[in-house]
Amino acid sequence: MAHIVVLGAGIGGMPAAYEARALLGKEHKITVINAVDYFQFVPSNPWVAVGWRSREEVVFPMRPYLERKGIDFIAQAATDIDAAGNNITLQNGDKVHYDYLMITTGPKLSFEEVEGSGPHGGYTQSICTIDHAEKCYEDFRKLCDSPGPVIVGALPGASCFGPAYEYTMILDAVLRKKKMRSKVPITFVTAEPYIGHLGLDGVGDSKGIMEHEYREHDIRWITNAKTTKVEAGKMFVDELDMQGNVLKKHELPFRHAMMLPAFKGVDAVAKVEGLCNPRGFVTVDGFQRNPKYKNIYSAGVCIAIPPVGPTPVPCGVPKTGYMIESMITAIVHNIQEELAGQQPSHKGTWQAICLADFGTTGAAFVAIPQIPPRDVNWFGSGKWVHLAKIAFEKYFIRKMKKGNSEPIYEKYVMKLIGFKRLQDKVLHPHHQT
Ligand code: FAD
Repeated sequence: MAHIVVLGAGIGGMPAAYEARALLGKEHKITVINAVDYFQFVPSNPWVAVGWRSREEVVFPMRPYLERKGIDFIAQAATDIDAAGNNITLQNGDKVHYDYLMITTGPKLSFEEVEGSGPHGGYTQSICTIDHAEKCYEDFRKLCDSPGPVIVGALPGASCFGPAYEYTMILDAVLRKKKMRSKVPITFVTAEPYIGHLGLDGVGDSKGIMEHEYREHDIRWITNAKTTKVEAGKMFVDELDMQGNVLKKHELPFRHAMMLPAFKGVDAVAKVEGLCNPRGFVTVDGFQRNPKYKNIYSAGVCIAIPPVGPTPVPCGVPKTGYMIESMITAIVHNIQEELAGQQPSHKGTWQAICLADFGTTGAAFVAIPQIPPRDVNWFGSGKWVHLAKIAFEKYFIRKMKKGNSEPIYEKYVMKLIGFKRLQDKVLHPHHQT
């Protein structure tokens, strides 16, 4: 019998536990350890932040669903990992021994890198967790009572840019609906070198399409933006040129600001000697396995992936749902092989596929492989993305409650996007994608 521990049960970890339960024999024990006792569907947070979703709609207790499938659950944060001795220490002092460890702890939100940023003691909002999104909604309501300038964007070192674009467009849609948009100038302030870079050096015509969307929706932008400090109602931003010199210093007033931070690895993982890169992201080989501790696998936002190339203000690479799903599937199959005395042979597909909601429409992209030049490099937009994203939310949450182990991106999103690409080819046969 082997004990497989999944540390961190978010978008990666919870499906990982179900996949492991479905694939590995009943003689093996599977335990999920998570810092909180509930699952949160992170991609819905931009909707929570404008009151389009309530906490109850996107959060649910995970214990009953996991236990029903024969998976043990511990609602405790890990504080230490003894990787050589195969033990995890929890916040309450308990120790858990494992044979295989799957680390899916997501990001540590590194607001401390920009003075005055973040919702805990700072002046900017975040949508990275359900608690942050709820706090953002409180601030959004204050904005509605007393309209004024808004800033949305991403701080230096950020890697997850999509939700900033989503939140900008959703805010625009909701303010227009309230007939208040004319009282709320919106500026997008981002570390990216151009609009639509997305940490991926663009995907298809993401630059052209996103600039067009922003122009059509009266959204101004500052790129190569090094946000240096935030005070109450004021953001200090150095706009750099492509050589990294300061082009212009901005002092931007705001009533409401939502800035995505740089990510790091969480402390319990980052401090394990030889497990991580300097920012605390777990280093993995092609089989999602740590080169030093061979019984530790890792997937999701917490793994180390190098940036696509240098940028004047540091930008990381996003880790999105399809990639995470494929990493998880590879890990579970590799552990199955190891348990059968074989060498791991499964690799995740590091490809970026994403749906971004814009309130009434949306944008989708496919980058295969993630690093350019690519075989598939497609960015499309339309009302279908908005509807697809809602369907994706409902489907994912239902899947997590049913304990279903089928891969969603593989089965559903890929087919949908494949159909849209085919349609594009028929309608615009001269466009190469
Ligand atoms: P998470 O989902 O963050 O899960 C990490 C889990 O680990 C959490 O439950 C946490 O409590 C737990 N944990 C952390 N530390 C510890 C510890 N010490 N001990 C125990 N447990 C711990 N990607 C898409 O493909 N599509 C989208 O639409 C999309 N929207 C996004 C919207 C937002 C606002 C954000 C921030 C990201 C979005 N992403 C999206 C990117 C990515 O899919 C998400 O960030 C996703 O949540 C990452 O999954 P994960 O499993 O790596 O981490």
